[in-house]
Amino acid sequence: METPVIKTVQFDLPKMNNGACINTADAWARVPAAPSPAEKAELKERIKRLLKEKQAVLVAHYYVDADLQDLAEETGGCVSDSLEMARFGRDHPAKTLVVAGVRFMGETSKILNPNKTVLMPDLDATCSLDLGCPADEFAAFCDAHPDRTVVVYANTSAAVKARADWMVTSSIGLKIVEHLHAQGKKILWAPDRHLGSYIQKQTGADMLMWQGSCIVHDEFKGIELELLRKEHPNAKVLVHPESPEAVVAQADVVGSTSQLIAATQVPDANEFIVATDNGILHKMKMAAPGKIFIEAPTAGNSATCKSCAHCPWMAMNSLQNLADVLETGRNEIHVDPEIGRKAYTCIDRMLTFAAQLKANVRPSSDLAKEQNLFSGIGPA
Ligand code: SF4
Repeated sequence: METPVIKTVQFDLPKMNNGACINTADAWARVPAAPSPAEKAELKERIKRLLKEKQAVLVAHYYVDADLQDLAEETGGCVSDSLEMARFGRDHPAKTLVVAGVRFMGETSKILNPNKTVLMPDLDATCSLDLGCPADEFAAFCDAHPDRTVVVYANTSAAVKARADWMVTSSIGLKIVEHLHAQGKKILWAPDRHLGSYIQKQTGADMLMWQGSCIVHDEFKGIELELLRKEHPNAKVLVHPESPEAVVAQADVVGSTSQLIAATQVPDANEFIVATDNGILHKMKMAAPGKIFIEAPTAGNSATCKSCAHCPWMAMNSLQNLADVLETGRNEIHVDPEIGRKAYTCIDRMLTFAAQLKANVRPSSDLAKEQNLFSGIGPA
């Protein structure tokens, strides 16, 4: 197999002590070599055998390679968004969790399961939101605003979570902020500015924002989306709220990865424009066979890794490195126990809130109907 290539990725690095000024910085991502069909088949069999031998379970995100998603499902693991990944890993009896995603997901699993072994195919798989919110600067920002309840997105380091009152994922962030706002709390939000301002608009909460962004979603373009919608007037627009406001404003459905997949089930919609990482299309096509999915436009003509609608760090998870970590037990995630203990509180608070919310929701087998998706087609 060929040697992996390293590519440079530019991300937003806000300087919050100095106003809302946004700097950029460079990070890197490793591009795994693609296996041949024969190598692929051999690796899949090896992974299945090793998962059994090591009594391990594979927990994968919707944005990783389709083969890894299929393997997770075929072997009794799960493919989901980061909220469900955390819940699944916590509740599964396996002593070893293999998390195919990015580093903060492995850390969250370890914090929730300090007695389990958590392995990751590549420990260098990171996230621009995590990189753009360094723990020391974030702590200084929080110290400067002691009257605010600190709410952080899951896409942050364990050290940032340790400084927070609440952790949220995109599937539950709006509900939690709504709840805090109803209690009269003022919020300090980090790190994604687009998700933060979407939630702020929906809830009217008083939110002071960190100014980070996701390098994938930040690239979706409102004007190009308008043109694409004219070419596909019947297509429903599904948007992840890490996208810019001009894109969110054109959505029929705004939601987390799971919520967007659920939206494809609506019987009277057959064509969708999708503004999130294109790794999700694998699951959408399985969930809604025969329907048409079109990727929302990015600054794709410049063809940088920022504008291909696929996260370069999620792409670092491969069959080869998954097989290697299962074989060797290397790439174990460790979290400082003191930081882990503090971070646990804000994650557990979210999981408890999610469980209560679920218990209070009337039973329905159709999430799309539950949320009245498409009931008011037009700006979300
Ligand atoms: S898609 Fe964006 S938010 Fe998700 S891991 Fe990659 S950089 Fe982070």
